[in-house]
Amino acid sequence: MIRIDRISLRQLTVGLIGLLALFAILALALAAQYFRNAAFAAQRQSMTRVVAVASGEALRQLEAQLFTLGTEMQARPEFRKALLSLQQGTGKAVLQSALQDPFTHGFSSIRSTDLIKLRLFDPQLNPLLQSKSKVNLPADLPPALLHKAKNREGADRLKAISDLWATADGIYYSVLVPIGGFKLAGYLEVIADPTFNLRAVEKTIRMPLSLYANDGRLLYQSARDENSSAAEMLSLEHVMLSSNGEPAMRVVCLNDITQLNEDLRRTTILAVISFVLLVGLATMLVLFILNRFVFDPVRAMQQEMARCAQGDLTVTIKRLMLHEFSVLADAFNAMAADLAAKIGQLDQLSRIDSLTGLANRHEFDKCLELEWRRSLRSHEPLSLLMLDIDHFKLYNDHYGHVGGDACLRILAGVLRGVVHRSSDLAARYGGEEFVVLLPNTSPISAGALGERVLSELQALNLPHAASPLERITVSIGVKSCCTDPSCCPSDLIEAADAALYQAKRAGRNRVVVADEMCSEGKCANCPGRVRPQS
Ligand code: GH3
Ligand code: MG
Ligand code: MG
Repeated sequence: MIRIDRISLRQLTVGLIGLLALFAILALALAAQYFRNAAFAAQRQSMTRVVAVASGEALRQLEAQLFTLGTEMQARPEFRKALLSLQQGTGKAVLQSALQDPFTHGFSSIRSTDLIKLRLFDPQLNPLLQSKSKVNLPADLPPALLHKAKNREGADRLKAISDLWATADGIYYSVLVPIGGFKLAGYLEVIADPTFNLRAVEKTIRMPLSLYANDGRLLYQSARDENSSAAEMLSLEHVMLSSNGEPAMRVVCLNDITQLNEDLRRTTILAVISFVLLVGLATMLVLFILNRFVFDPVRAMQQEMARCAQGDLTVTIKRLMLHEFSVLADAFNAMAADLAAKIGQLDQLSRIDSLTGLANRHEFDKCLELEWRRSLRSHEPLSLLMLDIDHFKLYNDHYGHVGGDACLRILAGVLRGVVHRSSDLAARYGGEEFVVLLPNTSPISAGALGERVLSELQALNLPHAASPLERITVSIGVKSCCTDPSCCPSDLIEAADAALYQAKRAGRNRVVVADEMCSEGKCANCPGRVRPQS
């Protein structure tokens, strides 16, 4: 399974855009196929219509020719006379020869017609006579034509009618011409082969043509061009109906669509290329905009947040970005500022003693370490005062712990007052013990500062009813030394502490400077230092 956290925003976006482009190209290919089919359908429809119109026109011309022939024949006086005398048993030979005449001598108006047969019918449409021919046709009129002719009334019976009809042997076109004007003497049916005239259609529409009977028999097929077999052909079919609406024959044409295909191919290729170019350009534009307004700001935020996570709380994310990112940047900046302020406060709290407001033991240890190393480099003396309130347990017992705390705060104020240099540090060491660290200060100056603390306290004259000294006093041990690499800060503390207890033992409320009495000093630079034997 794909791990989502391994996919970047950029990869996801590029993937999605790629997918969309792929879908779009697929849709275009489908659309191209659809348009191609639609173009072929339109071509088929319009060309079929052309075939239908041309075929209809060919039949109309055939009808006109057959009608002319029929009209001219029935107009001959001897023809009508012979027909009228047929009932008396004469005239048959004249009519037979007249019906045969166009087949033996030709006829000027039927040059472009394949005349099949001429048939005579009485006014009730019963067959009388017919021309001789090899074609055997049913004796009666074709059913649709007979039906149409019989159902006419009055003057309508004097109009010529025509029909396309089929037998098992062939396709025929008949024109039924009334004989004898208003006094109807009979009917002359002129029958021709319509396929002969329909062949001409191929010249009009300039397409190879086939004619099929309704049962699928091939009636005619035009000679095919050698090249046309290689060409791409669209088959068009037009069904010709007889007058009763039944299919009589099919006209099938082959439309050369090589050019149309070529045009469609070129259009499709052009459309695909333009579309791909457009999609490519749009993709690049979208990626550029996303890069400028989304990916780059997100990367910048990511980098700033990583810096923040590494501890740099000074980072701020620039707000020159989209609204949502600006809101995020503001929230992050506010959070980082808040965190920095809280860390500052915590740092402050971790360095300050909450009761007295002086530096605490932790801060003192840090400063001592720092000043010790600085003193090592500069070879300047580092002094330490260690102070302890005299009989403080008794003070607490007498005045209570709240009173004791107040006393501690007063002493802290005194120490704050006597320490002036920025490098000096007054701190609460623990309980009622305080320290003052004095860098670059000689033992004399350090002792003098201790004396000043005593005199400040004396001036305050704070009562301590339980103390033999009757007021608040402190004992102070002072140690000063030029630091040595073989010594450590705790040596300084120990020495100052020793001096403090010297002061306690000597009667309290006094300052003892270690170097002045140090016969057991540990520091190499201090008098009396005993170096450990290695
Ligand atoms: P000495 O003169 O020998 O120093 O006698 P002392 O009574 O001062 O010595 P000790 O160390 O026995 O007593 C220290 C007392 O300081 C014990 C404790 O009740 C008190 N103390 C320590 N920390 C505090 C504090 O934060 N507030 C108060 N009120 N008292 C404290
Ligand atoms: Mg103490
Ligand atoms: Mg004490």
